[in-house]
Amino acid sequence: MEYYDQHLHTHFSYDSNADFEDYLTNYEGFVVTTEHFDLANPVTKTDDIPDYKAYSQTIDTLNRKYGNRVLKGIEIGYIASEKERILEYLTDKDYDLKLLSVHHNGSFDYLDDEVKEMDPAIVIPQYFAQLSEALDVVKADVFAHFDYGFRVFGLSVAEFQAYEALFLPILDKVIDKKLAFELNAKSAYLYNNLALYDYVIDLYQSRGGTLFSIGSDGHYLEHFRFHFDDLFALLRQKGVTELALYQNGQQIMVPLPNETRD
Ligand SMILES: [Zn+2]
Ligand SMILES: [Zn+2]
Repeated sequence: MEYYDQHLHTHFSYDSNADFEDYLTNYEGFVVTTEHFDLANPVTKTDDIPDYKAYSQTIDTLNRKYGNRVLKGIEIGYIASEKERILEYLTDKDYDLKLLSVHHNGSFDYLDDEVKEMDPAIVIPQYFAQLSEALDVVKADVFAHFDYGFRVFGLSVAEFQAYEALFLPILDKVIDKKLAFELNAKSAYLYNNLALYDYVIDLYQSRGGTLFSIGSDGHYLEHFRFHFDDLFALLRQKGVTELALYQNGQQIMVPLPNETRD
């Protein structure tokens, strides 16, 4: 099986207008979308919940048309105040792939402009505390964009190292709970955090981590499989030979592509 994009959105996410067919008509392999589930979202001032019934029906229809290559996914945005409702929503639903994220803290989304004016020394430890709790509470397959909470600060590796002691227990938890570590192409290449990813991959490996997932976090076709060849090459340099895929919540290890497409 060829490695496919494991972080992708359609109009079932509040912040995307993309259609499944945008991706399906431009790619021959599996397509999984990971739709936003963000309760008490300060961005929209509402609960952003993908319509599971409509989502499942759409996927069933597309699977008949496109030869069963559409998979179900969700990006679970953890927020402590909504813990019970998050767990309740997830109980009776089936997903091939579950991503775990923290996007907001109830008052602001970590990408909001106001965060740029805040003190990283206050924001980052709070974000890490949320990640730590999210990992304890929610069972998921992939630990998404470790850097979301501090993207707006544009940290250098040296600046990140000031928080490393706080971050290592989170990485250890990711490893202990057997989640795959996501390389988020949008973070790395659109938000210029490639150096941080490069550094943290080494940290993850040094703690014993071996499970990698690559996702574009695309909200439209132009970002689908964004910079995948570059991320494959980066992992190859680090001695990685396999990537983790998830279908029906089961992990499937597939070879890291070793040829760069022309
Ligand atoms: Zn996200
Ligand atoms: Zn996303």
